[in-house]
Amino acid sequence: MPQTSDRLGKFTESVIRSMTRLSNKYGAVNLSQGFPDFDPPEPLLKALEKAALKGPHQYAVTWGAENFRKALALKHQKFSGTAINPETNIVVTCGSTEAMMAAMMAACNPGDKVIVFSPFYENYVADAVLSGAEAIYVPLYPPDFGFDREELKRAFRKGPKAIVLCNPSNPTGKVFNKEELEYIASLAMEYDTFVITDEVYEHIVYEPNNHLYMSALPGMFERTIVCGSLSKTYAITGWRLGYILASEKIINAARKVHDFLTVGAAAPLQEAAVTALGFPESYYGELKAKYTGLRDIFLGHLDRAGLKYSKPQGAYYVLVDIEPLGWKDDVKFSEWLVKEIGVAGVPGSSFFHEPVKNLIRFHFAKKRETLDEAGNKLMKLKSIA
Ligand code: GLN
Repeated sequence: MPQTSDRLGKFTESVIRSMTRLSNKYGAVNLSQGFPDFDPPEPLLKALEKAALKGPHQYAVTWGAENFRKALALKHQKFSGTAINPETNIVVTCGSTEAMMAAMMAACNPGDKVIVFSPFYENYVADAVLSGAEAIYVPLYPPDFGFDREELKRAFRKGPKAIVLCNPSNPTGKVFNKEELEYIASLAMEYDTFVITDEVYEHIVYEPNNHLYMSALPGMFERTIVCGSLSKTYAITGWRLGYILASEKIINAARKVHDFLTVGAAAPLQEAAVTALGFPESYYGELKAKYTGLRDIFLGHLDRAGLKYSKPQGAYYVLVDIEPLGWKDDVKFSEWLVKEIGVAGVPGSSFFHEPVKNLIRFHFAKKRETLDEAGNKLMKLKSIA
């Protein structure tokens, strides 16, 4: 019998999504795969209803419906200060998952190297491998998950084609500051490297931190491939609406990949989402306040349960240390936690290149009641801490 591709031996199926299946099987409170259990904004649901009745129901332009691209360009311009031409600087994709895959395939030749900070969101390594590229890793160090400048420079000396920058970062909650971004940008220019950003949490940032756009730094628009999404900003992870923003040259390459990967994102959902992209600035202030509240509630529960963690600066994840609980294997702990305590998280090892086995990632994009229920269950850990 023929054998399936050797490439598939280089990564596993998503651990995040397998934890959701395990959580569902045991009826646990699911704080593993990061998605909200609250509804999207009402006007967006109304727009969806209208799109269902009035259409469009056939293919949109493969790189995105014109009205969606125009609305996205305006919105991104407002927040980043970067001029975006909706005709030449955008590809609308099926979630940022496709955006990242298309960006990587557009950027890399087989054998190219791609720098990935570790810990990392698990897709990046699979994306690199599927593009024929190889990930090389640079560690981020707790508690604030900064990098060592010399280590990063050494990685750039290996001649990478691209570096992946998840900012705000999943799973660490790190928000890269101006000096860090400028240093990465200076290396990208010196070593002629693309920067592929994953900025799906751009609007979920906690005071006093601020989200700064790599592509807005001087000279960086031409070499930055921005991957973004509507999933987290408007609580519509199931709509699968993402995008790439980049220079015309990069977008022409990414459009080709996208055209043959998926043809296009769902037309009626793009139509409805134009409403969300036009929300006033106050929406984003309220979103930030909402997530700050949820973060504080959940961190309060962790404190009461006696758990140690790194305080997130952005995104909606927190890494909790299980070593004080006497556990040395995060995978076994996660299974035990689902079955015996009734809470699902993701074993930290699935985000690390290094053999780190003492962390569990929880997310807190959940209603207050859900977080309280998880908090009550996690209190059972207090006696073993
Ligand atoms: N970004 C989410 C997480 O890290 C999940 C994304 C997904 O499963 N596509 O949990």
